[in-house]
Amino acid sequence: MLDGLRNLALGFWTVLRHASQPPTTIPYPEVKRELPPAFRGRHRLYRHEDGLERCIGCELCAGACPSSAIYVLAADNDPAHPVSTGERYAEIYEINMIRCIFCGYCEEACPVDAIRLGPEYELADFERRDFVYTKEMLLDPEKYAPKRQYHADVDQKDPELRREIPEDEDLGEVYRRHVPLGVPPEDRPRA
Ligand code: SF4
Ligand code: SF4
Repeated sequence: MLDGLRNLALGFWTVLRHASQPPTTIPYPEVKRELPPAFRGRHRLYRHEDGLERCIGCELCAGACPSSAIYVLAADNDPAHPVSTGERYAEIYEINMIRCIFCGYCEEACPVDAIRLGPEYELADFERRDFVYTKEMLLDPEKYAPKRQYHADVDQKDPELRREIPEDEDLGEVYRRHVPLGVPPEDRPRA
């Protein structure tokens, strides 16, 4: 009997104690969760400042990938019109995002810092083929964002976006501007 009363009092005390705390839930998608600095989301391929691709088609990332998610086909650079700074470049570079487990091994294996996993986590899509990200998509993620990441009810509240983007359009532009909370300035997409 006494045990029961004590447990009841403990239960009430626990409820009262937590009732005064601020809520820990986040009203997504209006508010994006704050991400840890080492968060591994959507990949991005990088260029040098002169526009040449960093990737030299060495395939080390593909070899390191435990999910066989990366396909690289290298080709020789034309010295007159090089694509990358190396002797070779990736003629085809694809990541199958359905296979990817976001381990980051590809990023660690790359000798020229050409690929990194970024802070974007809204990667849902409908068609299998849309999950195979091509080199163009990885080099220019703002342009080739998955089509259905756009939340019209939320993003259209931004007066700047409302002015620029028709409601039925899909939205590299929104993707370009969207930055999850907590992402340090140096990791933010370039405007
Ligand atoms: S993050 Fe891991 S699983 Fe995904 S592509 Fe890179 S190495 Fe493969
Ligand atoms: S991303 Fe890096 S590791 Fe992968 S093929 Fe290009 S240079 Fe090699």
